[in-house]
Amino acid sequence: MSDCLFCKILAGEIPSDKVYEDDKVYVFKDIYPKADVHLLMIPREHVDSLNELDESHDALMAHMMRLLPKLAKEQGLDTGYRTIINTGPGGGQEVFHLHIHLMGGDHLPGFR
Ligand code: 5GP
Ligand code: ZN
Repeated sequence: MSDCLFCKILAGEIPSDKVYEDDKVYVFKDIYPKADVHLLMIPREHVDSLNELDESHDALMAHMMRLLPKLAKEQGLDTGYRTIINTGPGGGQEVFHLHIHLMGGDHLPGFR
C-alpha cells in the first residue's frame, strides 16, 4: 500500500509523534487534535477499514481493544475517554488504513 498515508507513517517515511508501539500496532498523536488527548491506533498490517476484516484479524482486533484502556490510563484519562472508528466516506473516514481514535480530556467534541 505504497500510497497509504498511515503505511508511510509506519515505514517512517512521514514523521509522527509516537506514543506506543508493539509488534502488532502503532499509536501516535493525531496531527489535528480534536481534544486535549487525541491518539490514533493503527495496525501494522494494512487493512482499509472495518469492512475488510475477516477471522484472520480476530486476535489483532482483540489486542487493539484491550490496549485502549491501558493507553487511556497512561494518558491520565481517569474519568473516561471516547473511541471512534470511522468507516467509509459515509462514516467520515478520510484515511483508508483502519484506525481507532482515542480521545479524552478537555475539549472533547460532540458526538458525530
Ligand atoms: P478519519 O477521518 O479517517 O477517521 O481520521 C483520520 C485522522 O488522521 C484525522 O483525525 C486527521 O487529523 C489525522 N491525520 C491526517 N493526516 C495525518 C498525518 O499526516 N499525521 C497524523 N499524525 N495524523 C493525521
Ligand atoms: Zn496503510
